[in-house]
Amino acid sequence: MHKVCQCGTNMNIRLRTVIYQNKVEIENVPVFSCDDCNRSEVFAEVKPELTGLIKQLGAKPDKSLLHFEEISEIAGLMLKASEKSREADPVEKIIEERVNELLDLLLLAQSLQDEAWMADVRGRLSQIAKHSLSAHDLS
Ligand SMILES: [Zn+2]
Repeated sequence: MHKVCQCGTNMNIRLRTVIYQNKVEIENVPVFSCDDCNRSEVFAEVKPELTGLIKQLGAKPDKSLLHFEEISEIAGLMLKASEKSREADPVEKIIEERVNELLDLLLLAQSLQDEAWMADVRGRLSQIAKHSLSAHDLS
């Protein structure tokens, strides 16, 4: 998960708060930023979720605070990996735990025949699978 800035410096990825329309604060959005020239750019892998969220908010959103880690599994995993208590855990383990958690939820949703919930959980699983994250990606 490396990115080189247009100025030639390596960019760092961090979870940042993105403000939309001066009204909505979206916390924990993975953003690449360059310490040299201050350019910043949303991590491409989470753009579909962020775009979807902004579409839902519409052009005239109410003032609110949103947690992007609840929508984006990538942001959620990055947040978990950055917790002090998880410092010693390999990222693979954090990912595996989350996948198991989602599979449990999927079973539960299936047993309740809750189609919307099943679709949500499947979407989350595919966010993780699609990017086939490696330990390196989150550190
Ligand atoms: Zn730069």
